[in-house]
Amino acid sequence: MQRRKFLKKSGLTTAGLMSASVLASCKTENKPEKAATPTPPAIKPIAICTWNFMNATAKAWEVLNKGGNSLDAVEQGVMIEEADVTNETVGKGGRPDRDGNVTLDACIMDKDGNCGSVVYLQNIVHPISVARKVMEETPHIILAGKGAEQFAYEQGFKKEDLFTESTRKQYEEWKKTSKYETTINIENHDTIGMLAIDEKGDIAGACTTSGMAYKVAGRVGDSPIIGAGLYVDNEVGGATATGVGEEVIRTVGSFLIVELMRQGKSPQEACEEGVKRIMKKNEGRKDFQIGFLAINKQGETGGYCVHPGFTYREYSEKGHENRQVESFYKG
Ligand code: ASP
Repeated sequence: MQRRKFLKKSGLTTAGLMSASVLASCKTENKPEKAATPTPPAIKPIAICTWNFMNATAKAWEVLNKGGNSLDAVEQGVMIEEADVTNETVGKGGRPDRDGNVTLDACIMDKDGNCGSVVYLQNIVHPISVARKVMEETPHIILAGKGAEQFAYEQGFKKEDLFTESTRKQYEEWKKTSKYETTINIENHDTIGMLAIDEKGDIAGACTTSGMAYKVAGRVGDSPIIGAGLYVDNEVGGATATGVGEEVIRTVGSFLIVELMRQGKSPQEACEEGVKRIMKKNEGRKDFQIGFLAINKQGETGGYCVHPGFTYREYSEKGHENRQVESFYKG
């Protein structure tokens, strides 16, 4: 509004009556109109998981695509691998520890920061669902060993032998030398960690594994440890890990990656920083694999690993992609 017009309208006829504040307000009104803030693009459902677990991401996508929530999507997604006996690193058919016990670790986390976990669970095919029950039916977060198994039976889970003919045979073979060493990318470690965003934009994650094959009896890795193998913060994003769990625990890897995203890093940059932190603590050592996977609130994804060979699966409205993580640590 022009100054003269304003004076007329307001009935002020002398310039002396105009206070400094009125002048200031006139100035403001003369400013060009502010551009409208652009509306952020609508969040699209997406599911991602470590390694090449195509059927698991397809299942998660099926749940999301029907309007299901991210917690159901990640649970039902990873259950596919837990039940798949040809996958010898997760659920039924997972390889045993050195004493011949198949022990499973899993955790799950929802949009509100609720979480549940089971460690050293035996004789149950779906540790992820037991972890969800711990989250939903108890005031606790982690149940271990016999207590976790007892709780599972009370919740209606069935007792089942987790050995398969193949894993029993391999174990008998292994006992001949009883040699334990971590080998880069061989299938003695291939945890499934899954992250999903649903149509409401809510994030959830799940992580499940039989752990390192032929581990010392009683060993628990990173996969069921909230913050290490998995972490979700619905304001920021989620992260999950695979590989030698001891190294991931030492850096609280998944929590670190989510916090790096909170500080402004992209999922890719955050995963790279996570791997670098681990390598800094392991100077001169490159005989182990770690793979991190992350997603942010906008549905951008990233992954990074110590050695080439780590892959991740992504399923969104764009379709099904398998990403080989080409960018690996160069030292
Ligand atoms: N992170 C798992 C563990 O240490 C193993 C894996 O990812 O394969 O138990």
